[in-house]
Amino acid sequence: MVVPLVQQLEVAGKRVLVRVDFNVPLTKEGAISDDSRIKASLPTIQYLIKQGAKVILLSHLGRPDGQKKPQYTLKPCAARLSQLLKQPVHFASDCLGDEAERSARALQKGEVLLLENVRFYPEEEAGDKAFAEKIAQLGDLYINDAFGTAHRAHATTAAIASFFPGKKAAGFLLQKEIEFLGQALLMPQRPFYALVGGSKVSSKLGVLQALVNKSDKVFVGGAMAYTFLKAQGISTGSSLVEEALEKEALSLWQSGKIFLPLDHIITDKGAIKTVEGAIPQGFQGVDIGPQTIKEWKRYLQEAKTIFWNGPLGIFEDARFAIGTNEIAKALTESSAITIVGGGDSVSAIENQGLAKKITHLSTGGGASLEYIEKGSLPGIICLE
Ligand code: ADP
Ligand code: MG
Repeated sequence: MVVPLVQQLEVAGKRVLVRVDFNVPLTKEGAISDDSRIKASLPTIQYLIKQGAKVILLSHLGRPDGQKKPQYTLKPCAARLSQLLKQPVHFASDCLGDEAERSARALQKGEVLLLENVRFYPEEEAGDKAFAEKIAQLGDLYINDAFGTAHRAHATTAAIASFFPGKKAAGFLLQKEIEFLGQALLMPQRPFYALVGGSKVSSKLGVLQALVNKSDKVFVGGAMAYTFLKAQGISTGSSLVEEALEKEALSLWQSGKIFLPLDHIITDKGAIKTVEGAIPQGFQGVDIGPQTIKEWKRYLQEAKTIFWNGPLGIFEDARFAIGTNEIAKALTESSAITIVGGGDSVSAIENQGLAKKITHLSTGGGASLEYIEKGSLPGIICLE
């Protein structure tokens, strides 16, 4: 199936509904603490302005649970967007009703309107068709550019698309995610190696399974490596282990594609040591060891495609961030297509100022992983 692109639509003079992801983190005082998500939507919005479209933006913010909770208003996002675009951004205090309709109708070519949080209505998360239809009536065309919510079949991320046959498309942000997480990983240049870390096997079982199927080798680090080691009868001391998942870990291991750390950085909350093989009683594994870093780096040199999700140690503590940082550096030095997805993995890259040297940093946390696992998402399927 082919996803239509925003550049294929005739948008001039049309009212274009754009589902964006302005779900920005807020400070206790309600200020925007990181505007990356707003910035990520600029290419699509600026393109539409330039083409003379009338831009109507839809988004959610936080989890207001279907109620009009003022702390989740999108108003500050309108102000921030206005600064970034260097032009006024109109705001309607409800995504439905008179004010929204009037504001949408009053829009001139190249003007932008942001509607209030769609999750102020319970119908949004319920994926309600009637609610989606009411919002659909505000626009002539529909663009989805909200990758961070594309794994949810909500009213404005999926249901709404059915009211725009032949008049819907993916925005630039969504297109980029489809290009890298979809096409590049579906038909990868080989060898295709994956690195997976993070805290829990349970939260990544589907992704691990998909990567074992699609890639040539999967390097497992972070806390989840200990569940794999324990399942093979290797002692893991007081490292994080999910005993309930040992069976699943063993069956993944039987694929022959999984590589586990050879050595570990361990601590008993006082001493910090490096150990090969088994982890002694009372010690917790907190990072991959230097041997592992060396060996994994050697493998990564031969890769043509590398996907990475999940820190390889407790990287929030600089003492246990060496594995994560070294592997991040290896990715930036590689000539392979490098793709990084996941909230903490992406911040590990950004913290080191390495973002520009990675081919693609995926903007969606949960959405990225679900896309790899399932090969598509409701927010993409609805455009096909
Ligand atoms: P992502 O957001 O990139 O998908 P996760 O949320 O799955 O990553 O995992 C990140 C968390 O995993 C971090 O908070 C990190 O401290 C933790 N972690 C990594 N390695 C270990 C370890 N050896 N022991 C305990 N926690 C770990
Ligand atoms: Mg995380």
